[in-house]
Amino acid sequence: MREVLKNYINGHWEGGVTTGTSENPSDLSAPVADYARADARQAEAAIDAAHEAFASWSLSTPQRRADVLDAVGSELLARKDELGSLLAREEGKTLPEAVGEVARAGQIFKFFAGEALRIPGEKLASPRAGVEVEVTREPVGVVAVIAPWNFPFAIPAWKIAPALAYGNTVVFKPAELVAACGWALADIISRAGLPAGVFNLVMGSGRQVGRVLVENRGVDAITFTGSETTGHQVLQQAAARRAKVQLEMGGKNPLVVLADADLDRAVECAVQGAFYSTGQRCTASSRLVVEAGVHDAFVQKLRQRMRQLTVGHAEERGTDIGPVASAAQLDTNLSWLEIARAQGAEHVCGGELVERRTRGHFMAPALFLATPEQRAAREEIFGPIAVVLRANDYEHALALANDTPYGLCAGICTTSLKHATHFRRHAQAGMVMANLPTAGVDYHVPFGGRKASSYGPREQGRHAAEFFTTVKTAYVCA
Ligand code: NAP
Repeated sequence: MREVLKNYINGHWEGGVTTGTSENPSDLSAPVADYARADARQAEAAIDAAHEAFASWSLSTPQRRADVLDAVGSELLARKDELGSLLAREEGKTLPEAVGEVARAGQIFKFFAGEALRIPGEKLASPRAGVEVEVTREPVGVVAVIAPWNFPFAIPAWKIAPALAYGNTVVFKPAELVAACGWALADIISRAGLPAGVFNLVMGSGRQVGRVLVENRGVDAITFTGSETTGHQVLQQAAARRAKVQLEMGGKNPLVVLADADLDRAVECAVQGAFYSTGQRCTASSRLVVEAGVHDAFVQKLRQRMRQLTVGHAEERGTDIGPVASAAQLDTNLSWLEIARAQGAEHVCGGELVERRTRGHFMAPALFLATPEQRAAREEIFGPIAVVLRANDYEHALALANDTPYGLCAGICTTSLKHATHFRRHAQAGMVMANLPTAGVDYHVPFGGRKASSYGPREQGRHAAEFFTTVKTAYVCA
């Protein structure tokens, strides 16, 4: 019998009311882990514990917080291969991507260990004689961390690390699909020297456990990453009780390819941006906007390159594209192929289910030629499906790139400094890439978007202080 992974509440490991099992999307005959689902009462107990612990943790020394975060970062880095293998098994990311993600999570904890000692503030002059003004930052309180399944180490890391660095306490709910990864991260944090209640883990579904975190008045701030639909629900419920909210949601990220681009490089940017991580990235380049002069040549080269991609078991050497993370996501992807065809998009290649030795959710990456009004060109798919849109010239390409409700990341492939610079200024996105895939970001700089992609302050980097602290202005007269 497998051990049932437990919830971590107020410094104790607790079972739950029911048990869930996470699957291996590369091999459905080999389940990954059993985990205890918390109930509403346990979620409330975790919030109470975090509330109680806040009084002393918020006054703990920055060095103490730095030491904890540094220890978490060190263990993640030391165990990146083993934890990467767990991530590959539970989510389906290829082993190199999975190991890279765990290492990135470690680097994020290390980065915020440094930031705990650099909490920003400023001293200002006052127009009044003898008065001094000081602007300082204080922790917000109890932070609920609600995370998606596609980056089960990196996304929780970039929420939990700054929350703790700035003196907040945390209740963490991982996505059920990747409960074992969430548990593994919690296990490391639980052994890093935190007082009871400062960090808590509650596993279970969004509708049950997540809902409690969103509705409970004891939660002061909610940092959420997931779909736009859930994000809007979270926002409405949190706004009703004036909790602070940060939402990172979907994307439909354009990669513009201009006629002067290095086409081989552009094809590589498209392949990595659109199909790596099986397209299951909010920053995936699912809209390839290609200037007419190179449209046909680009599509031909991309089709050839897609034929070389190996779809397979996430842990097998040589796999480029792992499985789709779940049966539900695979069904969604297959229905998108139907929608694209039904709306008249021209199928270039891919989309077929791939037979493997193991039973898993394997699908070949798919490419369509679309027109801007078609749904496959406008809505987030979250799978290995990309569309190509034809642009007459640079201005048309920019207009097409911006013609989306989302604004997370936008990329351009060009050798023209003039166009790259213009695009950087005029792309309606929170992140812009020139001659790089849209997916693939650094761990120490702001992450986030505009329009329907994001709400609230940026994640990652020093800008994280905006969300995880509240400003106090002090006037002092000697
Ligand atoms: P999701 O279904 O919205 O779930 C996200 C998290 O919210 C999960 O932990 C989920 O729990 C929980 N949840 C669901 N319903 C809830 C509710 N009513 N109240 C509180 N919590 C609730 O999204 P997903 O399918 O996991 O992730 C895919 C989406 O995330 C895509 O749209 C992608 O673009 C987006 N994403 C965005 C970014 C970004 O930074 N912009 C990064 C990564 C992913 P359970 O799943 O356990 O039920």
